[in-house]
Amino acid sequence: MATQRILDFLATRRPNGPCLVVDLDVVADNYRAFEKALPDSRIYYAVKANPAPEILRLLASLGSSFDTASVAEIEMAMDAGAPASRISFGNTIKKERDIARAFELGIRLFAVDCAEEVEKVARAAPGARVFCRVLTDGEGAEWPLSRKFGCVPAMAIDVLRKAKALGLDAYGVSFHVGSQQTHLDAWDRALADARRVFSTLADEGIVLKMVNMGGGFPTRYLRDVPAAEAYGQAIFSALRKHFGNRIPETIIEPGRGMVGNAGVIKSEVVLISKKAEEDELRWVYLDIGKFGGLAETMDEAIRYPIVTARDRDEKGACVLAGPTCDSADVMYEKTPYPLPLSLTIGDEVLIEGTGAYTTTYASVAFNGFEPLRSYVI
Ligand SMILES: *Cc1c(COP(=O)(O)O)cnc(C)c1O
Repeated sequence: MATQRILDFLATRRPNGPCLVVDLDVVADNYRAFEKALPDSRIYYAVKANPAPEILRLLASLGSSFDTASVAEIEMAMDAGAPASRISFGNTIKKERDIARAFELGIRLFAVDCAEEVEKVARAAPGARVFCRVLTDGEGAEWPLSRKFGCVPAMAIDVLRKAKALGLDAYGVSFHVGSQQTHLDAWDRALADARRVFSTLADEGIVLKMVNMGGGFPTRYLRDVPAAEAYGQAIFSALRKHFGNRIPETIIEPGRGMVGNAGVIKSEVVLISKKAEEDELRWVYLDIGKFGGLAETMDEAIRYPIVTARDRDEKGACVLAGPTCDSADVMYEKTPYPLPLSLTIGDEVLIEGTGAYTTTYASVAFNGFEPLRSYVI
């Protein structure tokens, strides 16, 4: 939703060209909602969702920790005021020299999902804490993270054994239930797996301490999603069910759920046309597309709410496309998007729920279009 502050900003500043406007008050509200929903979990904001310095500074000042994927993201979090003790290197795919650089910067918490990565961490970050990521099926997620990250629980046991043998602190287990996860029971299945890893290793004297429950918390697009509170309750009951009264230290890594609803993209209709005179279906071309920051419309996975000044008028189906000369630059075609029949070239449209995964996904200058500009207010 566009907040009054965002609408006022757009009305007074009238920025030219497509841009994202993020309202920091909404980010702060989201942070507090997570704190309240899961009071015993530490919050590691997933920096990749939106690394704007203003957002990182706000979250650092609220006490957030940070999940990072590269040395550059580590430096951004530190520049925002986060001490190294509040930063994890959560990418399972790291160059050994980047691990060494992170270690030099003071980072002591690393993700792994195979023995080969454990060997790198053991050499470049001796004695550091590592957690092993286990695979999840991603069911119920609108942006599943597939099989790229994590290993099966049986292998996680070997990976953590190896970590211990190489002098690392075998610290815990992580998972990510898939982004924009709308099934509350997804955490239950993943926590059952985590528990099995904990138990097996405990029998051998390796006592894990932490479960990293990842991100996946949704933002509202066209359909309602459960509130942070409902996620908190479902996760807490799952922790109780699997760990009884010995619940380990837990962390969550919200990205989308922290910033998604805090941002709105302002865009302009460049062209409205048809492919044949008799066609009903209109093609609407905006000044932003898949390469300008709307990459998550890939396979029409994420469907953003689009608001125009003519929404009270009758609507008809449109194919929605971007402005570049690549035929892949079409956002919605398989499921056309209803837009007002009165929509006109030059009209402004607001694309809501775009605070996460937009600026960072914009191309540098495809067809000469500049990367998505952003204003954090
Ligand atoms: C991207 C990512 C997140 C954030 O996921 P959301 O679904 O945006 O909350 C959290 N943890 C890790 C390891 C990630 O890669």
